[in-house]
Formats: sequence, structure tokens, C-alpha cells
Amino acid sequence: PLLRRAAYRLNVASPAQLPPDEGYEVAFAGRSNVGKSSAINAIVDQKGLARTSSQPGRTQHLVFFDLDAERRLVDLPGYGYARAPEAVRRQWSGLIERYLQHRQCLRGIILVMDIRHPFTDFDRMMLDWAAAIERPVHVLLNKADKLSRGAGLQVLARLRRDHGTQQCSIQLFSAAHKMGIDEAHRKLGEWLEI
Ligand code: GDP
Repeated sequence: PLLRRAAYRLNVASPAQLPPDEGYEVAFAGRSNVGKSSAINAIVDQKGLARTSSQPGRTQHLVFFDLDAERRLVDLPGYGYARAPEAVRRQWSGLIERYLQHRQCLRGIILVMDIRHPFTDFDRMMLDWAAAIERPVHVLLNKADKLSRGAGLQVLARLRRDHGTQQCSIQLFSAAHKMGIDEAHRKLGEWLEI
């Protein structure tokens, strides 16, 4: 219910523009095209809240959504366009890394992956950063509708065995089929204390 009230607040391109470091935040991360925007929209049950990435070259911003006066969702810029120049990639990682490392109110990171290509180098980098700051990560294996139920469960079991820890939980998800929403809501509710 509170998640459904998510409303756009602001775009942030430099640390100075960040809202006060108070309350509770959950950040969404993921390589471009894994369906991060679609996952956010499914979770808040609003079709166009997070912009889907039809424009790869888009300026890299952190996008803040308010749930209430002290709770926010943060959409981290997608990563992974191989064509992006090295300087752009460095700027990307500078802003994100700084945010992830210093943000006190950050309660957890939702890391969206494509179930067909999970735990890429990018994902491992995110997990390393999260571990360094002792932030929990919850993985959404999105596009689970692309696999049969049995195949999806097999991938889930293998990934939980290889990567699951107390700090890293993993679930099946499909933004397209609205699958795994309740489980994602429970995790967000826990982190945001709602
Ligand atoms: P983003 O770049 O990670 O924000 O990804 P988008 O949300 O823009 O989605 C990228 C593409 O994946 C779009 O064509 C979506 O329609 C598609 N997509 C997103 N989620 C799902 C899903 O759960 N299942 C399937 N089959 N396609 C999806």
C-alpha cells in the first residue's frame, strides 16, 4: 500500500544534490535492459513511474521516489552499455560508488538480473561494494517467464547454493507476469520498516 504511493521526487547527478541523509532508502541496481524499470513499476503498481530504458544514452542520474516523508526508493542508473566511453563509465561508477559507500539511510539494495544471464561481472562488482559497506542485497531474477517453472526453480536453487548468504537473498521475479511481487514487497517492507 505505501509502495503504491511512490511519487517522483528528483534526479540527482552529483552528491551535492542528494536529499538529506535521513530516514530509509532502498536502491535498485542492475545492468541496462535486465528490466529494472519494469520491476520498479511492477513493485509500486504504476505503469510509467520508472522510465524504461528505450534511450540508452540518457544522462546518468540517480532518480529518487518518495513513499512518505522519510522513506524513498532510488533508481540507480543502468549500467552495461559496452559502447560507453571509458570516461563515462568512470563517472558512472564514481557517483554510484560514493552513494553506496556513504549513504547512511540506505537499508538495502535490490539487484535486478536477467535470469538468463545472472551474476555478471557488473553484478559481482555491486555485490562487492555492498559487502564492503555491509548492506544487504536482494536479487530479483527477472524475466523468469522466459523459463519454464521447473527450469526457473532449478536456476534459483543453484544460485542460492552458489551465491546465497544472509546478506544476499535471491528470488524469482517477472515484471511482465507480475510474479514474485509479494516476496519483493516483504523484503522492502522489512528494510523500510513498513
Ligand atoms: P531496464 O533497462 O533494466 O530498466 O529495462 P526495462 O524495464 O526498460 O526492460 C528492458 C526490456 O525487457 C523491455 O523490452 C521490457 O519489456 C523487457 N522486460 C522487462 N521485464 C520483463 C519480464 O519480466 N519478462 C519479459 N519477458 N520481458 C521483460
